[in-house]
Amino acid sequence: MQLLIRREFGGNFNTKVTNNQGDEQHELTYPAPDVRISAVFKDLMQGLSHLVYPPHCLVCSTHDTAHPSGSGVCPACRAAIALNRPPFCRKCSRYLGSHIGQIHCKECRNAKPSFDFAWSACLYEDPLKGLIHRFKYSQKTQLRRLFADTMISFIKEYDLDIGQFDAIVPVPLSSTRSRERGYNQAQLLALELAKEFSIPMEENQLRRTLHTAPQSLLDEKQRWTNIKGAFTIRKLKNLRRKNILLVDDLLTTGATASEAARVLKSAGAGTVGVLTLAITAERQ
Ligand SMILES: [Zn+2]
Ligand SMILES: [Zn+2]
Repeated sequence: MQLLIRREFGGNFNTKVTNNQGDEQHELTYPAPDVRISAVFKDLMQGLSHLVYPPHCLVCSTHDTAHPSGSGVCPACRAAIALNRPPFCRKCSRYLGSHIGQIHCKECRNAKPSFDFAWSACLYEDPLKGLIHRFKYSQKTQLRRLFADTMISFIKEYDLDIGQFDAIVPVPLSSTRSRERGYNQAQLLALELAKEFSIPMEENQLRRTLHTAPQSLLDEKQRWTNIKGAFTIRKLKNLRRKNILLVDDLLTTGATASEAARVLKSAGAGTVGVLTLAITAERQ
C-alpha cells in the first residue's frame, strides 16, 4: 500500500513512502517502567528544588515565572529559537536558503543517506544550540518538554504523516556513553513523542554496540566512516515490515541516522523516517 505525506512539504516535498504493513504480529511495547519512574522522580526532585531555588531561564537567567511546568526557558528566549522553514531539502528537510531550485542539499547529493526522509523542527543556532548542549551534557533533562513540544508543533504545522509509523525508535547511545551520561537524550524526546501520538516506543531492538569517537569531533568524511558498523539489531522479527521513525536531537551530516536506517532496513524494516529537533545549515 502506498501512502503520501499529506501535504507538500516545503512546496516541493511529496515523497511517496511504502507502507509494508502486513499481517505479522509484533511485540512492540510502551516505554519501560524504569524510564517513566526515573522521569517522574526527576520531575519531583526538580519541583522540590524550585521551592528553594526559583527557576531562572537557562539562556538569559531571568526569573522564569511564566512557565510553571519548568521548561527552564523564558518566553522571550523560546521565541528566539529559529524554526526550520521552507525551502526544504526533499530528502532531509535541511533549509536550502538561497539555493532555490535545488531539490537536495549538498549533504544529500554527496552521500545519499539510507533513511527515506528526515524531518527537523529547528535550525541548529543559538539559543537552541546552547540549550541542546546543556540537555546532553549538563543534565538539563527538563528541556525535553520544550523540545518535544517544538517537534510536535512542526509535525502539526506541516501536517506530516506520523500515523504511517508503527514504532518510534530513539537513536541509541553506546553502553559506555549511556553510563557516563545517565540517560539518552534521544530516548527522552522519543518518549514524549510516543505519548503524544500514541505510537509505541521501541527502545531495545536497535543497539549501539560499537563505542565510537563523538561525531562532533570529526569532519564530514570521517563521520561517515566512524559510524559504520556501530549499530546492531537485537531481535529481527520485531522490526520486519514495520515502518520506523528514528528520533534524535540533531541531524548534522545525517551519517548517524543513515547508518541506523541502513541496519533497520537490513533487518527488514519498511519505511524509515527520521525526526530530529534541530538540523545544521547547509555547508557552503
Ligand atoms: Zn530567557
Ligand atoms: Zn538534504
